[in-house]
Amino acid sequence: MPDRSFLNWPFFEDRHRALAETLEAWCAKNLPLDHHDVDAACRELVAKLGSDGWLTPTAIDPGKPGPLDVRALCVTRETLARHDGLADFAFAMQGLGTGAISLFGTPDQQRWLEKTRAGESISAFALSEPRSGSDVANMEMTAVLDGDNYVLSGEKTWISNGGIADVYTVFARTGEAPGAKGISAFVVPANTKGLGVAERLEVIAPHPLARLSFDNVRVPTSAMIGKPGDGFRIAMSVLDVFRSTVGAAALGFARRALDESVKRAAERKLFGAPMAELQMVQGHIADMALDVDAAALLIYRAAWTKDMGAARVTREAAMAKLFATDKAQEVIDKAVQLHGGDGVRKGHIVERLYREIRALRIYEGASDVQKVVIARQVMGAA
Ligand SMILES: Cc1cc2nc3c(=O)[nH]c(=O)nc-3n(C[C@H](O)[C@H](O)[C@H](O)COP(=O)(O)OP(=O)(O)OC[C@H]3O[C@@H](n4cnc5c(N)ncnc54)[C@H](O)[C@@H]3O)c2cc1C
Repeated sequence: MPDRSFLNWPFFEDRHRALAETLEAWCAKNLPLDHHDVDAACRELVAKLGSDGWLTPTAIDPGKPGPLDVRALCVTRETLARHDGLADFAFAMQGLGTGAISLFGTPDQQRWLEKTRAGESISAFALSEPRSGSDVANMEMTAVLDGDNYVLSGEKTWISNGGIADVYTVFARTGEAPGAKGISAFVVPANTKGLGVAERLEVIAPHPLARLSFDNVRVPTSAMIGKPGDGFRIAMSVLDVFRSTVGAAALGFARRALDESVKRAAERKLFGAPMAELQMVQGHIADMALDVDAAALLIYRAAWTKDMGAARVTREAAMAKLFATDKAQEVIDKAVQLHGGDGVRKGHIVERLYREIRALRIYEGASDVQKVVIARQVMGAA
């Protein structure tokens, strides 16, 4: 039984505790899904999560706009990740893909949210390019004003849900200024002429991923989110919300690895006694539990701070993501070790977790980038 004591921490309100309990029961009944065909599995997950109401926190309600509930996002990601990495992915992308629309979209643009929250449309976030991943401000894709339209040309890569999304939030250079101040954000429906999938990308923990080509993709000026030149600020504001949730997914993976290890240590006999009686094993379990709790504290501090109305939580979110993802990697590695040969057997839960965790230390700002962000915040504040 996973540790639920953290739900009594003062960071949460009763609605978060209720969410954790009811979602746990839903996961036990519905997950994991067959992942043989990841596109089909993702579509099914989005539809199921949507129809059963779990996608509600991913975006604001256009009917009665309010802030995103970051604690609800984190509790949901942590719970889903503990059961099924692909379910967490399906949930997370509905939020990341529409974050800019929730935070800065016009009422017309926000009509997409009714569909993404219901699981009737799939969304994606298209920021990275072949020559600008960490170095976002250097992006090359252009959006040129032509009458009442912008014409988008270039490439985006590593786009999660690329190929299955119905709508993309796309960032492109509009040129108001060099670097970060010359980028704008757009809502681009997937069926817009000139937008295509140049390549599908396969990674160690499969999920829908693609390189996209934009060949003179024409969108109306009303597709711009915010003002010309606001794109970088918009992207960073979205990441400010969703970075803590990446940490929460890592926490879910780490909790599962810890639970599996505790079970294994109790069941497996070594040298005539349960493995759990070996002090070195106890040492590993203690380290794992410590890292899990410390990660949870940083994540829910960041989420709570944002929910309490902080305009930005750059430092808190970067700390939460960095610590939770790096430590989850260590916790899962220990779990693999404690499972012996079974730990590296294809399809074993800890083998799956070992593959699942790796990309979280790279996307939405690599661990090294989070360190730069934290240092800048700390030194800037000094
Ligand atoms: C599975 C997966 C899903 C993704 N999904 C999306 C998505 O949906 N949308 C999207 O837009 N992008 C997505 N990405 C892209 C992701 O955000 C980029 O891969 C990431 O930002 C790193 O960029 P890069 O791959 O170009 O590596 P690079 O920018 O070349 O960086 C390589 C490495 O250099 C180091 N480094 C970089 N900058 C610094 C620095 N300032 N100081 C010190 N070291 C540094 C880090 O170790 C980094 O990992 C995804 C990536 C993966 C792997």
